Amino acid sequence: MSTSQTTAIDITKAATSKINDVDFDNLSFGAVFTDHLFECDFKNGAWQQPVIKPYQPFLLDPSAKVFHYGQAIFEGMKAYKDDNNDLWLFRPDENYKRFNASAVRMAMPEVPEEVFMNGLNELLKIDEAWVKKGLGNTMYIRPFMIATGEGVVANPSSEYKFMIILSPAKAYYSGEVKVLIAEHYSRAANGGIGAAKAAGNYAAQFYPTTLANKEGFQQVIWTDDATHTKLEEAGTMNVFFRINDTLLTAPVSERILDGITRKSLIELAQKEGINVEVRPVLVSELVEASKNGTLKEIFGAGTAAVVNPIVGYSYKEEYYELPKIENSYAEQLKSKLTNMQHKLEADPFGWTVKI
Ligand code: PMP
Repeated sequence: MSTSQTTAIDITKAATSKINDVDFDNLSFGAVFTDHLFECDFKNGAWQQPVIKPYQPFLLDPSAKVFHYGQAIFEGMKAYKDDNNDLWLFRPDENYKRFNASAVRMAMPEVPEEVFMNGLNELLKIDEAWVKKGLGNTMYIRPFMIATGEGVVANPSSEYKFMIILSPAKAYYSGEVKVLIAEHYSRAANGGIGAAKAAGNYAAQFYPTTLANKEGFQQVIWTDDATHTKLEEAGTMNVFFRINDTLLTAPVSERILDGITRKSLIELAQKEGINVEVRPVLVSELVEASKNGTLKEIFGAGTAAVVNPIVGYSYKEEYYELPKIENSYAEQLKSKLTNMQHKLEADPFGWTVKI
């Protein structure tokens, strides 16, 4: 191993690379990680020396608060390589802001912009060979923070670990996605943590999603917790509905994650001349539109899947199939967005940021 210091980050490079062991054509999402990780600890009220080092496990005391009280947050973002071998990020400032908004909600310290952005950029440069060119090849980036302070006392930790790990990725979902509309379980409530990317939000979804899986549905469409009448999110994605030629999506709220794909698609669709309505979308409206033939599309939107078309949904034991249509908004918007991200098309919004 060689050790050197670049800017403020202590860098220790791996003696050998694992890259030749990886089959980049057959990647399972989130299963393979690059040679290095970025790490910065918070203790004594301050962020410590940031480090890049070989990807490796770490030790924590069994009483570390993350294990007992779930003080943990994360982000999901992607890097892309263009035909000139340049690396690009998509709206990284939005992920950075959302990460710190999650930190505030979970009583964790905010990560300084320099730590987050320099860490991200340097790590990506070091593991640059792992980012493959071409549409559909991306590097999924997982920044996260956990409470490492010791003691089984239910109060905020005084010590934290912030890390970034990288996982080369293809598309997240494959095959047909059928969804079940939630009639009992909820992922979020007013005053809760639904708008934060808190680890516990995802754990809370596993059980109802497993029940849905057993019935043959890949995901749950979450409805509002109070009345279960408003359509809010699809699994770990925001959700869009096309009724006639209007694209509908719920406004963000305390219960809904402010998705970066969602807000980009809204602007992109408007630029493409599509009529977009951001307003509460009712389950009854969806069922009615299915019955009268005006429901054309449903799709999820998120960094991992980008755009994920849904082929049918179930509500109150009734299954409603989506029609197979030409010129789908899902395809049109996905292609525009991914082309922009991979620098195959101009980015009039200034969303793509070169590393
Ligand atoms: N909702 C939830 C609950 C999510 O976990 C995600 C993924 N981050 C999204 C929506 C989509 O957000 P984004 O487009 O920023 O990835």
